[in-house]
Parts: sequence; structure tokens; C-alpha cells
Amino acid sequence: MTTNHIQFQPGMSIPEFLASFGTEAQCAEAVRQARWPQGFRCPRCDSAEHYVVGHGARKLFQCNGCRHQTSLTAGSLMEHTKLPLSTWFLAIYLISQAKTGLSALALKRQLGVSYPTAWLLHQKINRAMAQREDTHRLRGAVQLDDAYLGGERSGGKAGRGSENKVPFVAAVSLYDKGHPLYLKLSMVSGFTSKAISQWAKANLEPGTCVRSDGLGCFTAVADAGCIHMPMVVGDLLPRDLPEFKWVNTVLGNLKTTLAGAYHSLNYRKYAANYLAAFAYRFNRRFDLRGLVARLIVDVARAKPASPPASE
Ligand SMILES: [Zn+2]
Repeated sequence: MTTNHIQFQPGMSIPEFLASFGTEAQCAEAVRQARWPQGFRCPRCDSAEHYVVGHGARKLFQCNGCRHQTSLTAGSLMEHTKLPLSTWFLAIYLISQAKTGLSALALKRQLGVSYPTAWLLHQKINRAMAQREDTHRLRGAVQLDDAYLGGERSGGKAGRGSENKVPFVAAVSLYDKGHPLYLKLSMVSGFTSKAISQWAKANLEPGTCVRSDGLGCFTAVADAGCIHMPMVVGDLLPRDLPEFKWVNTVLGNLKTTLAGAYHSLNYRKYAANYLAAFAYRFNRRFDLRGLVARLIVDVARAKPASPPASE
């Protein structure tokens, strides 16, 4: 079974991680490579000519052209951080290797930082994952379903649109044998044609073949040039149909993750990032080892939030 390959694949061990990213200098070099893989360019005048002032995580790149000084983390999600880069990297490592996600509380315990610090770190790393997920669209054959955070998952139509729940779209692209390829979890304002139309334009390639149950708003994927194939399910609950097996499995896992890790989550405010972070890990589940390096790159390249988080 594919599941076993995923569960038993080697991750990255703690000694291995520490050998690569245990010091500030190693972390600083990894950030530099992630942000300027072709070499430093001045963000102000684009000149490549520069010299380096200081060392390690505190080093500054001073432009020979305009004299502008740029820190390793300037203009990024990590700008103005008071934490050592090695603490960020350790958080990235722990989050990337945790099968069902990691709570801010667990992060606090493992990093030895305060809860607010752990919480903010967690939130920022989630945001980096969300930014990365935003850049890619689903194509091919896609299963689409409506789902909610913050309450029991409904068994059918009766629960749809329930109050106090955060509605989101769960979409899974499938490859030949009906196995899931990529997952998208996106908050929507509601299950309306307008919301689904907007979502589809941002998240699906034109020509995508979309299967869903008969919920009316899903026909709006046609606005994005997609082909809609509603399933006529009669008295059966759509979620019992084999075609929806993977969406169901994924949503079941998501629920376990959220219950275990995020019980005090302010759903409405942070749901989009949590959902995208879940999808990020799911979409990279075949390479748990490589996930560490990829998440380091994605965090190093992530943009700061606007407005900045106040916590
Ligand atoms: Zn310059």
C-alpha cells in the first residue's frame, strides 16, 4: 500500500539535521543560498557588486553601487526576528517531520522558548507554507468537496452552511489509478456561485475536469474554463461513494490533525494558513527527508505578513 511507503520512509534524523543546520553560520549560509541562489543582488539598485560586513546571521551585504546595506532576512518573513536562525531552523525541522502537524505548545516545549514566541514562529512558518501553496494550481482530474472547520463534519446536506463554522473547499487532483496527487484546501466566504467561481479562477487550470456532488455552486467552476461533472447520487451520501474516497480520507486526517494540534485555534482568523500548511505537507509527503530543505527555502523566501502579526 502506498500509505506504508509514506509512513515508513526515512525522514531526517536529529543528528543529521544538526550536522547540517546546527550552527548560526550554517543556517545563515542556507538562508543566503535560498534567497540569492545566483548570488547577492542589491534590492535597491540590482547591482551584484558588494562586500560583506560582519559574519554569521548578523552579516550585512553592502552594495558597492548605492551603499545600501541588506541583512540576510531583510524584506522576508524572518526580518526583525530576535531569535537565532538556528531556532527557526529547528522549528522548521520539527514542523516538517511531524506526521500530523505540531502544536505551538509542543514547539514551545521542544525549543525552550516562551509560548507567545512559539506561537508566532508556528504561525509564520504556516504562513510561508501557505504562500508557497498559493503559487500552484490543480489540473487534470479533480475531486471537489465542501467542508467546514470548527465543528463536526456534516453527514449531508442538512449541515451545510451551519453557523459558527469556517467553510472551505477541499480539492484533490488525481492521477491515473485514482490516487491523490495534489491537495488544495482553501477557505471560502461561503458555498455560493460567486465564491466558487473566484476560487476556481485562482486555483484551477482551465480545462480541469472537476467532479463534485450536486451542490449547486460547484457548477461555477465553468467560469474558470473547467469541465464540471456533477455526480448524481440519489439517496446515497456522496461521501460514501468510492469516487470521493480520497477527499474523505484527507478530510479525516485533517480533522485528526486539528483536534490534536490546534484545539485552541481561532479558526476564522488563522484557518487559511492552517489549511494550506496541512496541504503543503500532504503535497510533499513522498519526500519527508527533502521536506526539511524545501521548507527552509520556502521560509527564507516568504514575504512578511501585511499587516504584521500583532501577537
Ligand atoms: Zn545597490
